[in-house]
Amino acid sequence: MTEIRSTVILGSGCAGLTAAIYTARAGLNPLLLEGHEPGGQLSMTTLVENFPGWPDGIQGPELIDNMKKQAARFGATFQPAHLSKVDLSKRPFRLETSAGEILTRTLIIASGASARWLGLKSEQALIGHGVSSCATCDGFFFRGREIAVVGGGDSAMEEALFLTRFASKVTLLHRRSAFRASKIMLDRVMAHPQIVLRPNTVVEEVLGVEEKEVKGLRLRDVATGAESTLRVDGLFLGIGHEPNAKMFGGQIDLDSEGYIVTKDNVIVTHNGVPVPGVYACGDVQDRRYRQAITAAGTGCMAALEAEKFLEAHGG
Ligand code: NAP
Repeated sequence: MTEIRSTVILGSGCAGLTAAIYTARAGLNPLLLEGHEPGGQLSMTTLVENFPGWPDGIQGPELIDNMKKQAARFGATFQPAHLSKVDLSKRPFRLETSAGEILTRTLIIASGASARWLGLKSEQALIGHGVSSCATCDGFFFRGREIAVVGGGDSAMEEALFLTRFASKVTLLHRRSAFRASKIMLDRVMAHPQIVLRPNTVVEEVLGVEEKEVKGLRLRDVATGAESTLRVDGLFLGIGHEPNAKMFGGQIDLDSEGYIVTKDNVIVTHNGVPVPGVYACGDVQDRRYRQAITAAGTGCMAALEAEKFLEAHGG
């Protein structure tokens, strides 16, 4: 018979790992499914300057690695698997995963959010051939080359700045004239001699599909309608993320953009009514703040709720 776990955590980013630290320390022996992007968004970032306790900043992957060690020290176990199907209608909850079936009394959803793409056919065809959504993963391949970054938020600024370590020139393309990035990041970008800003510009096509490598971009100025070609060897997307919650559709409440709706911070609902034993934390339920520290905070709350639920229900 399949063993029934007390707590299963979906996702191994900042939220999931914090939930793992707390539930493991409470003796719940949590199982953490690492998902498609182990370590989450922090594992793909560079210097994290605003996580309290690190006055000189800390590299994202190192922060994740530290959290993982901390959770493991208290007995959390990690499974390199992802969820394919879930049934929240019966107890214990039934999860079908790439590593087999799992039954659990409580479920903490910390599946985060994944990079958004423009959705152009040429962009999709060239992913891994010059098109990327991860500067820290792929920047290295563009030493001495010219590249473009799309986006007007902090992610795009961070990517553009990071990529100047490799690329000789970075063109930052944004569809509007106003940027939503924080002032400090935008100021750094504007002051950088290797970065050129092109507001009011959208990518119509990535050139190079036949050659199987990015050769340039066909651009359109949204203010004038004028089209132009920009010669670049790489295109990086920094246009935000989509919550990874589709597999829960119909079983729990999702908002219009697919984020999990929560009550009292982390309590998951279905038709507005709490689903006992199911909690969501981190970017999968946070469309507003989306910070490492807020993900960690809600991860802690989800763990405490799961603990309270198990205590009350003889977990
Ligand atoms: P974001 O703030 O949602 O920005 C996404 C950007 O991409 C926006 O400028 C948006 O344009 C643009 N965009 C979205 N879809 C597009 C499309 N189809 N085509 C062209 N452009 C498109 O996302 P984010 O930059 O990933 O940041 C998310 C959160 O994480 C924010 O709270 C941010 O502060 C935080 N963050 C912080 C740091 C840091 O402090 N070091 C680093 C990264 C992220 P519009 O402006 O026109 O909507």
